[in-house]
Amino acid sequence: MKAKALYADIRERLKSAGIAEAENEALIFLETYLGITRSDIILDEEKEPEAESLNALGSALSRREKREPLQYITNNAPFMGLDFYVDERVLIPRPDTELLVEEALKDLHGGSRILDICTGSGCILISLLKYSNDCMGVGTDLSEGALEVAKKNAGEILGDNDRIRFFKGDLFEALEGTGSKFEVIVSNPPYIASGEIPNLMPEVKDHEPGMALDGKENGLFFYERIIPKAKEYLTVGGTLFLETGYDQGPAVAGLMENEGYIEIKVLKDYSGNDRVVTGVRSVKG
Ligand code: GLN
Repeated sequence: MKAKALYADIRERLKSAGIAEAENEALIFLETYLGITRSDIILDEEKEPEAESLNALGSALSRREKREPLQYITNNAPFMGLDFYVDERVLIPRPDTELLVEEALKDLHGGSRILDICTGSGCILISLLKYSNDCMGVGTDLSEGALEVAKKNAGEILGDNDRIRFFKGDLFEALEGTGSKFEVIVSNPPYIASGEIPNLMPEVKDHEPGMALDGKENGLFFYERIIPKAKEYLTVGGTLFLETGYDQGPAVAGLMENEGYIEIKVLKDYSGNDRVVTGVRSVKG
């Protein structure tokens, strides 16, 4: 069969299932399951895919038609130029979260200790360690399944090393009483108000872990707990970096101000929405 015709078939199937990025996803399906690339399509190469690969493609497409996210089907999500393994145990890393990583990277120096609260797939912490030198990182999550995914990603992306550790527990619980201190604390906690969840896309509300999305009544539940507690674990002069919803910047900055953080900043993502709030632990802390 001709590559162009295969591409058009898949694209149309995805379009009829209501998938907005049908063109782009059709390219990913073709490359992942049949090894057919964009240039094969442009040159309209003749391709005879193996029956087995066609079957795998067929079942992947029927999952996608039921609005399962592409990333859970291919078990892959690109983030910060790295390939993360993902499945239904973790939130899919979002491009917006790259802003949080880029900001935190500016703060790291040799020997920095980093704590990632609600680590999920580990995408934030693993990227920070990948793109810095001699830092060490701790990730926590309440979900055992998420920690299994994070450990797998750490192994694949960072190789065997003892610079990264994961602990199961509610926010800071696993560190309670250890006296651990960090120069940098990062978190992309669940921040969607419970009442908003039914309005999300089927990919998100029916497939991504509810506990990774749900920020309770007003979406601020986790910020209200993280911001006061983080001071115990930050060094004086250490920085807290939080991802927020597009309309939560002022509220989260206000919480930091009430807790005595200084140099508070609200940063915008590439779409011009508030996305990251940062604050420094002062001496008075
Ligand atoms: N830290 C992970 C991420 O940013 C998971 C976040 C979460 O589960 N809320 O993708």
